[in-house]
Amino acid sequence: MASYQVKLVGREELAEGTLAFRLEKPAGFQFKPGQSIVLELLDPPPEDGQKRRTFSLVSAPFEETLVIATRMRDTAFKRALKALPGGAGLKLTGPIGQFTLTDAVRPAVFIAGGIGITPFMSMLRQAARDHAPQDLLLLYSNRRPEDAAFLKELQELEAQNRNFRLLATMTEMSKSAHTWSGQTGFIDAALISRATRGLKTPVYYVVGPPAMVIKMQETLRGAGVSDEDIRSEEFYGY
Ligand SMILES: Cc1cc2nc3c(=O)[nH]c(=O)nc-3n(C[C@H](O)[C@H](O)[C@H](O)COP(=O)(O)OP(=O)(O)OC[C@H]3O[C@@H](n4cnc5c(N)ncnc54)[C@H](O)[C@@H]3O)c2cc1C
Repeated sequence: MASYQVKLVGREELAEGTLAFRLEKPAGFQFKPGQSIVLELLDPPPEDGQKRRTFSLVSAPFEETLVIATRMRDTAFKRALKALPGGAGLKLTGPIGQFTLTDAVRPAVFIAGGIGITPFMSMLRQAARDHAPQDLLLLYSNRRPEDAAFLKELQELEAQNRNFRLLATMTEMSKSAHTWSGQTGFIDAALISRATRGLKTPVYYVVGPPAMVIKMQETLRGAGVSDEDIRSEEFYGY
């Protein structure tokens, strides 16, 4: 597996407590939408296990830089990452992972919980860029609009790509300072069945914290989806 030293070239707040980090793309670095990288701090904090983390690439292959996004929890790794000045070096290993679109013809239903949106951003950006004919549906669950990274961009992608539909749902609107006229409540069997009506034999892709992924797998199986048609990626640590 190839490793590179890259520079941090930018950072941006995407939602409350969620930051994006933009990195130089090493010459010749190639990946598929949905794949991840391992980022390692060159000057890591002394605590055990705080040297490296795995992140899905948010950026699509056609973009000139690499971008990752993460929930800024209070761990030594994330404190150190956040404190890095522009131009700081990081060790990048990758790309890694098989969480890519397995079938470019059958409709794809993406189910993302919170920061689990990251690999889907890369897939959706690339699909819009390529004018891909594949039907894509994203079910995106967050507690509140304030927490939902990339919401505006997803709405723009939906306007741009006639084969892409977005269904965002909020589960804790009572704690939100925003208004929300869209879907509320958890992604359950009824919502999945309603949203996927008309899609012929879709493949399901699920990403989020382990508990959410397990729950979604059970829900999909309960709805008669076979294991072969469910692909998932768990973001450990949440
Ligand atoms: C393929 C992949 C892609 C990911 N993409 C993203 C992303 O795009 N954005 C993002 O924010 N996070 C992503 N993650 C999760 C990320 O690597 C971190 O685990 C997460 O951000 C939490 O980090 P932390 O420093 O807040 O907590 P951590 O200290 O990393 O995690 C806390 C707990 O998680 C446990 N844990 C960590 N890694 C594993 C593991 N591999 N197996 C079992 N338990 C584990 C630790 O033992 C600890 O108890 C991804 C993970 C994987 C595997």
